[in-house]
Amino acid sequence: HVKERGRSDFRFYQKKMNIGLLSRMKLDHAMRQALERQEFRLHYQPQIHLKTGRIFGAEALIRWHDEELGEISPAQFIPIAEESGAIVAIGHWVMREAISQAAQWRRAGHQICMAFNVSALQFQQANFVSSVAQTLEEYDVAADGIELELTESVLIRDAEETLRKLEALSQLGVRLSIDDFGTGYSSLSYLKRFPIHKLKIDRSFVDDLPDDDSDVAIVTAIVHLAHALQKQVIAEGVETEQQRCLLDRLQCDEYQGFLCSPAVSATEFENLFLSGQGLSCQLRVSS
Ligand code: C2E
Ligand code: MG
Ligand code: MG
Ligand code: MG
Repeated sequence: HVKERGRSDFRFYQKKMNIGLLSRMKLDHAMRQALERQEFRLHYQPQIHLKTGRIFGAEALIRWHDEELGEISPAQFIPIAEESGAIVAIGHWVMREAISQAAQWRRAGHQICMAFNVSALQFQQANFVSSVAQTLEEYDVAADGIELELTESVLIRDAEETLRKLEALSQLGVRLSIDDFGTGYSSLSYLKRFPIHKLKIDRSFVDDLPDDDSDVAIVTAIVHLAHALQKQVIAEGVETEQQRCLLDRLQCDEYQGFLCSPAVSATEFENLFLSGQGLSCQLRVSS
């Protein structure tokens, strides 16, 4: 298992090298062109309630297949898009695509909360809140059917402006979560000021569960912190049944990870969701 992963890491490594050799300007150009040519796709990773095993939501994750460079990981190009500013246009496309998919699922009668990632620069745009509201209206999606995943970097900027925007979004009914919780540079004080609904425990704290005592302690503390503040908590990067079991015992509310499924196409997601009315992940883990 470990060997297999090592080998596929090597393949990715070779591709990353190719990207590394491109200048930032070339990559920025390629990203903007990819947007025009509609080369970006969204894939959707199931989010599962630990208690019921039901899929209740999806995280939209961007995918980019370039003719020459092949598949490029968002971990590679999103940071560069953040630096160049291309993330504003890319993020806008992601929001529209995710909300449009949420609308399709809603019309099909599926109750699926759609989470998507929002970069700091995108959030800082003066019209960000109104563009969310407009897109929801355009696609006729209820605000509580979407969740914005913000990183701590969003929260450490202009506190007044951030608070105003988060309150406006929350007032709309949009759900807000903190992605990669525990890895940023912000203080915990934002948790009492900002209307955040959910903490997402970073994968780095989940990877070595259940063996690493420090990680067990950190995850336990994050779950308690979330609940004490009346927030929900989800664990990212759950790959094993042992991790899922421990998270369940620690009263974590939800999880996502390869144990259930990686991010998949919308059609594949529907199949996962529909097989057992969203119970597929529970069936799989209890067998
Ligand atoms: P993230 O938002 O924290 O997303 C979770 C990442 O972990 C995803 O990687 C997902 O495929 C991966 N993952 C999920 N479950 C597992 C697991 O069990 N094991 C392992 N090893 N990995 C797992 P991905 O899709 O490569 O995205 C990486 C990061 O790129 C995201 O981290 C997010 O920060 C950023 N990103 C992706 N799509 C977007 C987007 O549309 N907009 C913005 N602004 N950022 C995005
Ligand atoms: Mg995320
Ligand atoms: Mg994350
Ligand atoms: Mg992450």
